[in-house]
Amino acid sequence: MICEDNGGLLHAYVDRELDLVRSLEIEKHLQGCKRCRRAVQNQQALASAIRGSSFYFRPPRELKPRVHAALKIAKEHPWSMLA
Ligand SMILES: [Zn+2]
Repeated sequence: MICEDNGGLLHAYVDRELDLVRSLEIEKHLQGCKRCRRAVQNQQALASAIRGSSFYFRPPRELKPRVHAALKIAKEHPWSMLA
């Protein structure tokens, strides 16, 4: 396995999108390759930072009824949306 080809695979590995055989191949490669090991560590750190941060958009609680109200108005009075 050549490191340069691993970019996409490492991403998929970190995201656990690979099948077992591919995962094992990557793991085997990581044992002998400091560069890819570091890349995986960086990606894992980034992934957990994103999961733990406010990058996930949490809409305010009052948004849902407002959207529903707007949709209801749009459905009943489609022309009102043209204004
Ligand atoms: Zn490598």
